[in-house]
Amino acid sequence: MANSTRGDHAFTAQSLTGASSEPMYAGALSFLRRKYSRDLTGVDVAVTGLPLDTATCHRPGARFGPRAVREASALLAWDRPYGCEFDPLEQLAVVDYGDCQWDLGRPMEVPAAIEAHIAGILRGGAAPLSIGGDHFVTLPVLRALHRQHGALSLIHFDAHSDTWSHDVEAGRIDHGTMFFQAAREGIVDPARSVQIGIRTYNPESCGFQILDAPWVHRNGAAAVIQRVREAVAGRKVYVTFDVDCLDPSFAPGTGTPVCGGISTATAIEILRGIAGIDVVGMDVVEVAPAYDAAGITALAAATIAYEHLILYARRPGAAAAPGLAG
Ligand code: MN
Ligand code: MN
Repeated sequence: MANSTRGDHAFTAQSLTGASSEPMYAGALSFLRRKYSRDLTGVDVAVTGLPLDTATCHRPGARFGPRAVREASALLAWDRPYGCEFDPLEQLAVVDYGDCQWDLGRPMEVPAAIEAHIAGILRGGAAPLSIGGDHFVTLPVLRALHRQHGALSLIHFDAHSDTWSHDVEAGRIDHGTMFFQAAREGIVDPARSVQIGIRTYNPESCGFQILDAPWVHRNGAAAVIQRVREAVAGRKVYVTFDVDCLDPSFAPGTGTPVCGGISTATAIEILRGIAGIDVVGMDVVEVAPAYDAAGITALAAATIAYEHLILYARRPGAAAAPGLAG
C-alpha cells in the first residue's frame, strides 16, 4: 500500500484512501492521518476545524477542540471501527482541509467567514465534516448547505435544545440560539427533525421532535433509531453532535456539562443504526480540552466523527450503502 511505509502521512500520503501505519504516538497530526489539502479533486469528505468559542454562555475553550480531536484521532487511524463490515477510509477519499480562520477582533464577521469556508468545500464537490468549536458554528454551516440542498432535516444530539429565542434579531452569535434562528430562517424543517438526549428546560421547542435523555434511557437505542428513520425518511439530513449530549462521565471536557446523559456506546449504536440516511453535512462540537480528563472527551469526539464517516460511506448511492456492496 502506498501509504503503509511512510511516516507523517498528514503531508506525505500518496493516496487519499487507505489506513496509515505510522506509530500512534508520532508524526504530524491531522484528522485520522488524512492528508492536509485544499485541493478537493476526487475528494468525498473534507474534514475541517471551526475553532470558535466566543459564543459560549459558560466555560470557553472549544477553540482548542479541533486540535484535540486531531490528536485523539491518531489512536483510531490504524484500523477500521469495530463491527463495521467495511473500511470507511478505503470507501471514501477524505482530506483534512485545515481550519477556518478569521480576525478575532471582528467577531461579527465570523458567521460569514464560516459560511464562505463551507461553501468553498461544497463548490469543490466534497461533503463537510466539521470539528468545533462551540455549537454556534453549526448555524453558518447550515446556511451554506441550505443554499445547495434547500431545507434540511436535522438530527441533533445535545443536552440542550439550543432553541432560545432572545435577541436573535440583531444577528446574535450565541451557542444557545442557533436552532431557533435556523428554524426561523427556514434552513431546517423542525417537523422532520429530531433532538436526542435533551435534559435541560426550554419553553421554546420550535416544533422539533424531542427524544429527551430519560426517554432514550427508558426506550433504548433501537427505539431512537426507528424514530429518527421515520422523521428524516426521504430528506437531506444534517447531523450535529454536541459532545455534551454524552454524560459528563464520558465527556467532561465541554463548556456546559449536564449529568444524566447517554453513553458513548449508546451514541455509537444510534449512529450506526441510522446508516443509509441521505446525509449532506455533519459535525462534532463543544470539545473544550482544558476541562477534559485523560483525553476522554477528545477521544469520544474523534470516535463520533469516525462514525460520521461511516454514515457518509453508507449514504444512498455510495459504494457501501445498505443493500449495495459491503
Ligand atoms: Mn449545543
Ligand atoms: Mn449542549
